[in-house]
Amino acid sequence: MGGRSAVVVGGGIGGLAAAVALHRTGWDVVVLERAEEFTEVGAGLSLWPNAMRALVALGLADRVRAIGAVEAAGGVRDRTGRWLSRLDNAVIARRHGWPLLVVHRADLVRVLVEALPPSVPHPAAEVRAVRADGDAAVVEHRGGTVRADLVVGADGLRSAVRRSCWPEAREPGYSGCTAWRTITDPLPDPRPDGAVLWGRGERFGYTALPGGRFYCFAAAVVPEGGADEPGAVARRFADWPHPVPALLAAMPEDRLLRHDVHDLPPLSTFVRGRVVLLGDAAHAMDPMLGQGACQALEDAVTLADRLAATPDVDAALAAYDAERRPRTQAVVRRSARLAAVTRWTWPPAVAARDLAARLVPAALTLRAMAPVLDWTPPRSAEGVGL
Ligand SMILES: Cc1cc2nc3c(=O)[nH]c(=O)nc-3n(C[C@H](O)[C@H](O)[C@H](O)COP(=O)(O)OP(=O)(O)OC[C@H]3O[C@@H](n4cnc5c(N)ncnc54)[C@H](O)[C@@H]3O)c2cc1C
Repeated sequence: MGGRSAVVVGGGIGGLAAAVALHRTGWDVVVLERAEEFTEVGAGLSLWPNAMRALVALGLADRVRAIGAVEAAGGVRDRTGRWLSRLDNAVIARRHGWPLLVVHRADLVRVLVEALPPSVPHPAAEVRAVRADGDAAVVEHRGGTVRADLVVGADGLRSAVRRSCWPEAREPGYSGCTAWRTITDPLPDPRPDGAVLWGRGERFGYTALPGGRFYCFAAAVVPEGGADEPGAVARRFADWPHPVPALLAAMPEDRLLRHDVHDLPPLSTFVRGRVVLLGDAAHAMDPMLGQGACQALEDAVTLADRLAATPDVDAALAAYDAERRPRTQAVVRRSARLAAVTRWTWPPAVAARDLAARLVPAALTLRAMAPVLDWTPPRSAEGVGL
């Protein structure tokens, strides 16, 4: 299988995972990344059991487990702090093989980069255009032009690869919601179990990271493209119940990230000639389910597995598209449905939502997630290096 060449555009979690998977299955890979270095800005990331199984296939699950935090429990609380539903992480682990793990994004990127030979990652190599060219594809980047048997577009929501090769694709649209993320300074004991609090058109979540720090994430229905006055986010959530004020106090403002959340209209294919999309470039989704990066990891493993199964690259890419597009688009819809509910602002609707969430047994909530969490890599056990 050796000798086939691939260019991965974008060195985020999806692109790096794809590079690891392709490298392990004998491809000559380079990753072209726009940023000056391979890292991720400081925030956390939930890795559900489906992502952990993808990491097992990449041979990296133990390393990622070592950099992550596993909380005893989590769940959803209402605006007054009352629990609406609780998820026991031991139950998740028993049912799905792995607990929910939370990592610092930069640590995950480091593990992925370290799994690659130093010749693979190329920072400061922004890609400007890509064109399919028979049984190859040509990539124009900051430093020149490169031709490869396969180009993987893993360049995120505003993908240049998608813009080049999917000219008919509609641009992402504002979801109506803006998200904030940060990592706190270490908090003293006793530390709370993680939770997401649902308010009226607002939500605030927190979950433990190693070293006593917390990953905090919040979202609110606000106009697109705004900027925060100093202290605005702390003021917005100041009267939320314990432990929100303590978390806000441990949250240096200069580490607070603000992003408008966008929906990417569904694509009719993830493959065009020898160009293939994965991760957010293919199916950016609302962060509500914490599945965007998990799905990108699944994409990466499936792509390499399909390519390893046959010398016919076109057939392998068609199999990847047939497998990944329905699944990821279903997860996008599921995230969007849940996110829509948390954006409600009309008090009677919010009260009805909270009551419904309180009445649904935790076991049922987890069972509803099973189709997402139960994913297993295509041929993991007998794979060719994967
Ligand atoms: C608030 C929030 C919370 C989230 N929480 C979770 C969570 O808990 N769990 C989870 O699984 N997912 C979560 N997600 C989703 C997750 O962050 C994304 O789905 C994931 O990062 C996508 O990875 P990617 O590699 O496809 O894209 P990206 O992470 O966007 O990486 C794309 C890379 O391509 C590079 N690039 C862009 N353009 C070019 C170019 N022209 N040339 C070269 N390089 C280029 C970028 O610099 C970047 O490094 C969350 C998202 C948000 C917004």
